[in-house]
Amino acid sequence: MLPGAPHLARDAAGELRLEGHALAELGRRHGTPLYVYSRAAMLNALAAYQRALQGRRHLVCYAMKANSSLAVLQTFAQAGCGFDIVSGGELERVLAAGGSASRVVFSGVGKTRAEMRQALDAGVRCFNVESTGELERLSEVAVAAGRRAPVSLRVNPDVDAGTHPYISTGLKGNKFGIAHGEALAAYRRAASLPGLEVVGIDCHIGSQITQVEPYLDAAERVLDIVAAVEAAGIALQHIDFGGGLGITYTDETPPAADLLVRRLLERVDARGYGGREILFEPGRSLVGNAGVLLTEVQYLKPGDAKNFCIVDAAMNDLMRPAMYEAWMAIEPCALRAEPAATWDVVGPVCESGDWLGRDRRFAAAPGDMLAVLSAGAYGMAMASNYNTRPRAAELMLDGERVHVIRERETARELFARERLIG
Ligand SMILES: *Cc1c(COP(=O)(O)O)cnc(C)c1O
Repeated sequence: MLPGAPHLARDAAGELRLEGHALAELGRRHGTPLYVYSRAAMLNALAAYQRALQGRRHLVCYAMKANSSLAVLQTFAQAGCGFDIVSGGELERVLAAGGSASRVVFSGVGKTRAEMRQALDAGVRCFNVESTGELERLSEVAVAAGRRAPVSLRVNPDVDAGTHPYISTGLKGNKFGIAHGEALAAYRRAASLPGLEVVGIDCHIGSQITQVEPYLDAAERVLDIVAAVEAAGIALQHIDFGGGLGITYTDETPPAADLLVRRLLERVDARGYGGREILFEPGRSLVGNAGVLLTEVQYLKPGDAKNFCIVDAAMNDLMRPAMYEAWMAIEPCALRAEPAATWDVVGPVCESGDWLGRDRRFAAAPGDMLAVLSAGAYGMAMASNYNTRPRAAELMLDGERVHVIRERETARELFARERLIG
């Protein structure tokens, strides 16, 4: 089964289709490189979270850094989603897409004064504060603005690295969050500052997590802190378990979102916090398997040591392989009868790190269309203009309809704000 199924499938003739649309044809009509998303796949992924949270006060805040294109945000806003943002720019995007600031939580370790002021003026629901320095600064900015800033503290649950080595942000010794042991003191400080109003607690333990256990471990530690903070007389209205649920790139078998949420809620209920509003901040798991990147084969370059399949998408379009050595499935959009060969799929950028996949077996010829699967998250959102490559266009499929949600950039746009001297 293809990652991204059931919206992504091969038809009887071997043509790769997303929401029923033949991908090769979309690539030819709209040009490549081209990102194509299934709106239904995004909404299905969101519905799994919402289903498990039904009947409770809750808010799913899409961590929009995974894919911040306006039509993606619009899709989620219309489905009742809030947003987890990490910059003032992301706040502007939410508002431009029709989202409401009252459903926005503002995460990130480096919020500037200007971003704090912008978010206060917009009326965000909550600042997820990551250090005591940030508490002090936020209080000052709020007092100067004649407001009180709603705050949640992002605590670092220090989930055991030995059992869960893949977790990258929930451990001691990384830049995120307030250490478990310092959380109570930080809450006391927050409660004493004139510009702040304590409203909640949050954590986010990492990304591409494929098991339930680390979430349960983190939840127990977060609930320990809730108990200690409330015993000190500081009430917490919401508990935010962050994001990080993994998707299938190859043979990973992450838990379904509704199963994960149910397991977490069992713990919350067992500890007596079932009446609290529950927040989640999923990014990758809402959009990752909903998108593909289409690219056209330019040249085949067989060699003694390696065969290269040179395509028109590159590391600037899709950073994950170059940046994290991430493995992403690559499938020909139409199947050929010729025997398969083994290819390194590489782009035209002048870097040896510019590859999309290594040692992939398929039959191809110049002009063929390939699809990089599971490219909906941290794909377009991380694209750059390295080598003066205009960024790709994006399509959103919605049943029969094909929406161009981002036009291809032009080279002229890339240097429009530059000036010659003199
Ligand atoms: C990136 C991030 C998320 C989402 O992570 P995913 O792995 O994409 O689900 C959620 N919360 C915070 C604070 C983040 O930084």
